[in-house]
Amino acid sequence: MNWNEKKLGFGLMRLPKDENGKIIVEEVSRMADRYLAAGFTYFDTAYVYEGSEVAFREAVVKRYPRESYTIASKLPAWKIADQYGPKEIFEESLRRCGVEYFDYYLLHSMQENREELYETTGCYEFVRRMKEEGKIRHIGFSFHGSPELLERTLQRHPEMEFVQLQINYVDWDNELIATGRNYEIARKYGKDIVVMEPVKGGFLANVRSDVREILDEADAEASAAALALRFAASLPGVKVVLSGMSSLAQLEENVKLFASFTPLEDAQMDVIRKAGQAILNVPTVPCTSCRYCVEGCPMQIKIPDIFSRFNMLLTFGEHFRPHGLYNDLVAAGSGRAGDCIGCGQCESVCPQHIDIIEQLAKASAQLDV
Ligand code: SF4
Ligand code: SF4
Repeated sequence: MNWNEKKLGFGLMRLPKDENGKIIVEEVSRMADRYLAAGFTYFDTAYVYEGSEVAFREAVVKRYPRESYTIASKLPAWKIADQYGPKEIFEESLRRCGVEYFDYYLLHSMQENREELYETTGCYEFVRRMKEEGKIRHIGFSFHGSPELLERTLQRHPEMEFVQLQINYVDWDNELIATGRNYEIARKYGKDIVVMEPVKGGFLANVRSDVREILDEADAEASAAALALRFAASLPGVKVVLSGMSSLAQLEENVKLFASFTPLEDAQMDVIRKAGQAILNVPTVPCTSCRYCVEGCPMQIKIPDIFSRFNMLLTFGEHFRPHGLYNDLVAAGSGRAGDCIGCGQCESVCPQHIDIIEQLAKASAQLDV
């Protein structure tokens, strides 16, 4: 497979929004201009990223020739219904994006409870056919499951050309995510790798002072976010590192980092893994704010927003006024952590396999006071 040697991928899942929650297309256009002008080309969207495919069409497709960028989108098998199969979803994505083919197309968020679904709904067969017809250049899947599932999937489906994995230094040795083991399996099967969540939804951009001290041994000048991105990009086989960018300032920072990227030395990589282990030694909730759990909560609990405040409290104490921010969230309409009735809907869709009910109970004990 051919990849742009500049590895920064523009994740379109956290685009800038106005106060009404509408994506600000003008700002996305400015970000895309800067990104493309710096020689980067890889955009990543998905059928389920609300408004993202259309924003991409307006900001990029209508303003740039087709050969100047590449676009990846994703097929969510869980959205398939009686009258609405892979074909309809795929064609709707093409329409929303305003393109005639996808450079990269992925089965979205493969994990244990979706393994059978992707088989029985004919998704593998469908993407193979679209590739033969030239409507997809390269097929792959994004992955949130166990190493055993990854191995099984790659054995059964050698036609999958690449995998998108959650890779960051704190999950490397995290048994729940098993980043390190999943990475090794993808390498064993010779697959190219696209990295998602390199900064763990922003979690690694603001680390505790003891973790920062460890990171200083790797590079005292670099920001924590930059080191997290460099860690992922330095791994052999990694072709794209996605960053879900929300502002021009963030994009500028990333473009600068990746424009003249040099891989970290082995010794620096070891130090950064050590920092990851230090983070794991303090129990915070490893939520990435993907928000898959929010829609179905019968108590309207904004779970990731509560976890971000709870993590803030665990990591920085009262420094960033977590209680005030929590009360603002409740005033804006979120259920309280203590309102959870334990129905389990959220846990069944959480790609990070977080024990949400138990974590909410802990959050409630400290925040509902
Ligand atoms: S278990 Fe609690 S937080 Fe999760 S969906 Fe049910 S009520 Fe909401
Ligand atoms: S709790 Fe899980 S599903 Fe919900 S936002 Fe966090 S990572 Fe996503």
